[in-house]
Amino acid sequence: MLHAQDTLTCLNHYWGYPDLRPAQKPVIAEVMQGNSALVIMPTGGGKSMCYQLPAMLRSGLTLVISPLIALMKDQVDDLRLKGIDAAYLNSSQSTGESNLIFNAIGDGKMKLLYIAPERLMSLKGALLERLKTIKIDMIAVDEAHCISSWGHDFRPAYTKLKDLSEHFPGVPVLALTATADDATKRDIIRQLGLENAALFENSFDRPEIHYSAQARTDEVTQLLAFVEQHASESGIVYCLSRKRTQEMADHLKAAGYKAECYHAGLSSQERMERQEQFIRDEINIMVATIAFGMGIDKNNVRYVVHMNLPKNIEGYYQETGRAGRDGLDSKALLLHGGGDFRTLSAHCEVDGNLDQSNVMLGKLRRMQDFADSRVCRRKILLQYFGEELQEDCGNCDNCETTFEEHDGTEDAQKLLSTVARLEWSYGLAHIVDILRGSTGPKNHRSAKRIVHLRHRSRQKQTALDEHRKGIDPARLADPNRRQVSRGRTQRPLLGSPPGPGAGHAHQVRRKPSPSKKRANLKPPPSRPAPNTKRAFKSSRRAHQLAKASNVPAYLVLSDRSLKELCTALPATVADLDSVHGFGKVKIAKFGLHFLDALKEEAD
Ligand code: ADP
Ligand code: ZN
Repeated sequence: MLHAQDTLTCLNHYWGYPDLRPAQKPVIAEVMQGNSALVIMPTGGGKSMCYQLPAMLRSGLTLVISPLIALMKDQVDDLRLKGIDAAYLNSSQSTGESNLIFNAIGDGKMKLLYIAPERLMSLKGALLERLKTIKIDMIAVDEAHCISSWGHDFRPAYTKLKDLSEHFPGVPVLALTATADDATKRDIIRQLGLENAALFENSFDRPEIHYSAQARTDEVTQLLAFVEQHASESGIVYCLSRKRTQEMADHLKAAGYKAECYHAGLSSQERMERQEQFIRDEINIMVATIAFGMGIDKNNVRYVVHMNLPKNIEGYYQETGRAGRDGLDSKALLLHGGGDFRTLSAHCEVDGNLDQSNVMLGKLRRMQDFADSRVCRRKILLQYFGEELQEDCGNCDNCETTFEEHDGTEDAQKLLSTVARLEWSYGLAHIVDILRGSTGPKNHRSAKRIVHLRHRSRQKQTALDEHRKGIDPARLADPNRRQVSRGRTQRPLLGSPPGPGAGHAHQVRRKPSPSKKRANLKPPPSRPAPNTKRAFKSSRRAHQLAKASNVPAYLVLSDRSLKELCTALPATVADLDSVHGFGKVKIAKFGLHFLDALKEEAD
């Protein structure tokens, strides 16, 4: 029988972490009882630990099914640095190489074996037969949403995993994914036969990510001002087109940053090289189209910038989610405006499929609403995924802004009478254009007595904009909301004369206020400002050690460990024990080097 103490001892020994995260505990308890489970946890939540730690607590082998070789390699490198015997099988290995792996398995040394579904379930089946003779404790299916054609990364080979229980009867299956939508979830359960298994669903909140959005006015200045706050940290900048990635990368390079562009127009060799350079911190800023990011696990990406409105909130959430996987404070900045909505809505049209076009357009509208909103951005995001956040988050631009109110009754009346004259059938952007004096299609000209608000520029927000910005997140998240709708608050305004006290529409201006962090949610681990010279020396040492071991530096020393190292200032190897991320093997391998680097600076 396993003790909680054994679990913690093992966690501390190999990983150097003091405790499991609250979401990991029940999952690990479940699988340690030999049960199957489905785990839905956001990126960075720590899914891997849910099978890696049980693998170490058991005597046999844990099989991990993973879709991408790059991800497998990263995980195996990481485990080996911690002193854990792990390997991956892929089709490029020679028979000799895979025999070596099987020998290690035969000796009972190997704890985790990573494999792609194509390889495991290949028709020839020789590998499958070989694995059937081995004591397998558990099969972890990582990125389990790849099994579903409803999911966003469908991989046909994953559907063959349906037969896992036939090949490995009685072996528990742990399916893990960060995709939460119901259709995908049901599909995973059905195909992997998890009907009776426990389901662990976690909040999609990423408290460590700070969200903000700005109207795009002078994009290069805005980008440089933002990047400046992150000097040599890693970040991803997303653009819509290849040409723009090139332009932005050039601007960043001219300003002295180590930046490169990444898009589908590069050869696969170039793409691989750049990705590798990014992982190794030789490139700090990757300016990319959305093609970038899928296959990388880099946990110290500190920020993600979108230079344009993304197509939908799912994509935005996934892309911004690539920041802060290590749980440290990170930022997501969205620049939007210009013709984004118009350009993207053209892409929403799916030939011959009106329904699907409407769905895509609806998603784009909700993305635009998110960008325009004055409401806590985390509330909107979570609402979109069906979660209710009771209090404002205190960690987004809207929460950090006090909105000054002033009476905008008259503007509101003009706008509402226009909306009424147009018989409630047009979208907001269009109505703002009419109010500002653009003529629009003929039938609008016949809507006489529309009172124009010519004096209002588009940047100077009209009451109309403000009306939309105050909409509650539940309504922003409503997929059926497509046009301006009549609401309770609007009607009294229409009948009453303008003047003080006639209504309650208000125009609002931004005024930054000191940040008020949520009290009820765990704040992300704070990042004390470390002695920069020490940090620089330690980080340089980590890069040298990483290079010698041929692995990325963040696997040798994570951002969090670096920070703790520079604040705790351990003097002896024993002191390193209490520094986050220093397990026994890592201390033995690298401990002295880091103590040395710290000492060097003190001298
Ligand atoms: P996911 O696969 O859910 O995106 P990962 O398994 O890559 O997340 O974990 C994200 C980060 O969290 C990694 O850097 C990992 O080392 C760290 N982590 C996982 N579990 C813990 C823990 N119990 N304590 C501290 N850090 C943890
Ligand atoms: Zn907020």
